[in-house]
Amino acid sequence: MAPPLALVVGSYNHDYAWRVERAPRAGETLRGDAFHSAPGGKGFNQAVACARQGAPTAFVAAIGTDAAGDGARRLAAAEGIDAHWQACPEAATGSACIVVEAHGQNRIIVALGANERLDPAFVREREALFAAAGVLLVQLENGIEATRAALDLAQAHGVLRVLNPAPVHDALDAGLLARCDIVTPNESEFALLLERAGGARVDADTLAARDDAELHRLARGLGVASVVVTLAAHGCFVSHADAGRHGDVQAYYRVDAERVNVVDTTGAGAGFAGALVAALLRRGDRPLRDAVVHANRCAALSTERRGAAEAMPRAADVELRFGSGSRA
Ligand code: ADP
Repeated sequence: MAPPLALVVGSYNHDYAWRVERAPRAGETLRGDAFHSAPGGKGFNQAVACARQGAPTAFVAAIGTDAAGDGARRLAAAEGIDAHWQACPEAATGSACIVVEAHGQNRIIVALGANERLDPAFVREREALFAAAGVLLVQLENGIEATRAALDLAQAHGVLRVLNPAPVHDALDAGLLARCDIVTPNESEFALLLERAGGARVDADTLAARDDAELHRLARGLGVASVVVTLAAHGCFVSHADAGRHGDVQAYYRVDAERVNVVDTTGAGAGFAGALVAALLRRGDRPLRDAVVHANRCAALSTERRGAAEAMPRAADVELRFGSGSRA
């Protein structure tokens, strides 16, 4: 029997990034220092992160019938991803304009284009992928009904459901969150979700410094069985509804960040989510904690390279840095 799939339903964007001394003012034209064009989109970044950890990975997304869309097809094939593209002649492939100032500040415009047209019917027509999947991973760069359709199908097939709630969607509600087994917000997404879930107002910048019991109490307000909050340079925090869930002895715990030489943190959260899913597929009866440690390592390594999808480490990179025991 074929091994279960990692199934990512999500977004593809092409990133166009300029480095400039400072962002231009209204009406001003500036010369950029460097230009870099690369694949991105949270869904695609996650699919690449997952595939590079050796998991058989399928990806469902929508693109335009344009040059960027053709590029997406080639890139997915080169990564060995089983991609199912909904071609949208009436919309452009998603794109992001990124202006990086000399002191590192980013200004980003995202035009989601075709991603917003991902049709729930197109997702449902791919039911065979859900039947073959071990884990589903979704994010929030598509129309919410497509995401909901994916979660419903996964539930019907008994597939573990992971949501990277990025970026938090206006239509994200408690019902959609309750469809997920694991959510992986970063600090600002966690703060926003808490506000949506019950009005707790917390300053995202203070989260990493809070004690574990307090973070656990907050995470339990989301109504999701397992919450993994990524804390950037502070690693991550895991909170379960009860001890013993996914083989973890503790109901909550923290995993410290790995020491790395950070070059560019773009896509770190996607690297974390994709690697987590690859590790979840392979984990057998090992605790979730092992998968989280692996994801924390992969995400850290992704920050040592420029770009998003192209920065995702391969299984061999993780072994080389962290030793052979680090394989997910
Ligand atoms: P996002 O990219 O979604 O904002 P985070 O910034 O929380 O997500 O980063 C995701 C993960 O990437 C972290 O949980 C950690 O594993 C890793 N990471 C990010 N920044 C660093 C860093 N400076 N040093 C080590 N690991 C990092």
